Amino acid sequence: MNERDLIEHIRLLTETDGAGLLLGIGDDCAVIEKDRETVWLLTMDTLIESVHFNCKWHPPELLGRKAVAVNISDIAAMGGRPLFALLSLGLPADFAEQWAKQLSYGISKACQQYGCLLIGGDTVCSPAGVSLTLTVIGEMQRNQVLYRDKAKPGDTIWVSGPLGWSAAGLALLQAGKTLADQQWQQLLLAHLDPQPRVQLGQFLASSGLVHAMMDMSDGLATDLAHICTRSKVGAWVEGDLLPGREALAAAGELLCQDPLRWLVSGGEDYELLFTASSANKAKLLELTTAQGWTVYPIGTIIEGQGVSLLNSGVQETISFDGFDHFKKGERSCTRTDAGSG
Ligand SMILES: [Mg+2]
Repeated sequence: MNERDLIEHIRLLTETDGAGLLLGIGDDCAVIEKDRETVWLLTMDTLIESVHFNCKWHPPELLGRKAVAVNISDIAAMGGRPLFALLSLGLPADFAEQWAKQLSYGISKACQQYGCLLIGGDTVCSPAGVSLTLTVIGEMQRNQVLYRDKAKPGDTIWVSGPLGWSAAGLALLQAGKTLADQQWQQLLLAHLDPQPRVQLGQFLASSGLVHAMMDMSDGLATDLAHICTRSKVGAWVEGDLLPGREALAAAGELLCQDPLRWLVSGGEDYELLFTASSANKAKLLELTTAQGWTVYPIGTIIEGQGVSLLNSGVQETISFDGFDHFKKGERSCTRTDAGSG
């Protein structure tokens, strides 16, 4: 049973008709009615030592920031505004006080940065390593929520920033590179300190131009396949259009990796992936550029199913070729969005 099968199994066992529940399992957040015009967005993500992070190279302050960022990113994915956070922190009995203080500082600074109040949680003793689970609650206009299931054939597919940098950064950290090395800083920081696209997400939701949206945690191949499956459509992606390739070249050479694999399957980018009518391509570019954002068209939604990559004239199916916690032989040290991811 892989991760998708497990989530689907759980989903089929759950009631979907709760009071005020607009959407349960299957998107970046659960959506609950707040009042006639407004909804609550709820999401939860966990970071586990040795699965999602390695204390050897993850500075505690940045780890705290990342635990908040990956949750906030799911609120951004719907177009919402983060408001409250709950934290469950598991630490070994002999945790280092200074380390825990820096971790807490990172958590509180990130909450502050995104306008989110930490309102409660739990602290527990962990027999094996550090774990951080956050629940974030956001809100937004009910009629502006951007779901994964509204992509339409003919839509242009967009991403909000470079792909594969976090995966390349992780590979560099595993190869012993550090933040002290200027050359790799940009890629390492993409992994250690991701920046969720909260403002852009809200802007896109309020623009009324976007059909479907999610954040990218498991790699383009898997994340786009989620949009396609939920929307009952297929997708074409053009390899030459994927942003961020130049910055991956040197790392690819050093580590004998094809940068294309990072671009297509690398996880934890926390960029936004969205679709909008191709008729609005110029308008979307103009509006986002005027606000100082760069967004990149990378392909087209088509009738049918599956995600295909066209690279240097070669077509390849890449559906769900990203990260899966339970796939045989899957690499560790990256994360996913099980639950309401
Ligand atoms: Mg997500």
